[in-house]
Amino acid sequence: MARYTGPVCRLCRTEQKKLMLKGDRCKSDKCPIQKKHAPPGKDPKIRPGKRSDYGTQLREKQKLKRIYGMQEKQFHLFFERALRMTGITGENLFELLERRLDNVVYRLRFASSRSQARQLVLHGHILVNDKRINVPSYLIKPEDTIKIKESSKNLIVVKEALKEYGKSGVMPWLQLDPDAMSGKYVAVPRRNDITDLADIKEQMIVEYYSK
Ligand code: SF4
Repeated sequence: MARYTGPVCRLCRTEQKKLMLKGDRCKSDKCPIQKKHAPPGKDPKIRPGKRSDYGTQLREKQKLKRIYGMQEKQFHLFFERALRMTGITGENLFELLERRLDNVVYRLRFASSRSQARQLVLHGHILVNDKRINVPSYLIKPEDTIKIKESSKNLIVVKEALKEYGKSGVMPWLQLDPDAMSGKYVAVPRRNDITDLADIKEQMIVEYYSK
């Protein structure tokens, strides 16, 4: 299935949740979710009916998939990999998603959204352990270093995104040297550390794929 290229706010409206798909720009009060816009194609005057268990599980899966900007096939492969790992499948899934290179680039504040991070990776601006890696789904390991390539350090998008670092810092499993535009993935995050996605019910995603 082709990658979705339409307006991303529509995806949030479908889920009726701020998925933060535009990164920092989502903090503006122009966000349609803050304005309580109805889901696309739905009459705001008609109250939605009760969802089935399957419908609720499906929506939870769609939310997480959209947050990480993935397509169904790849998301399912991540889930299957999480299932084969020891431990709790939902937590394993989060571990794998957080280890994606495009996500780490976003979390290190080299980009203001995951989609922008994906572009940086695809265009070869990112080095992992001093090697250029242009695969957004590449999985980072603890102790890996992630840098902006020397010739890309003047990119406005990176400089602008890094400005944000001073305001909010990086997640506890990462270290960032903003002057060197370099970061380190220190450890695998625990589920409780991923505070911005605390309301995602990963058990429902496990149930969805277990049918
Ligand atoms: Fe649009 Fe961001 Fe609001 Fe989602 S959270 S509706 S992407 S502004």
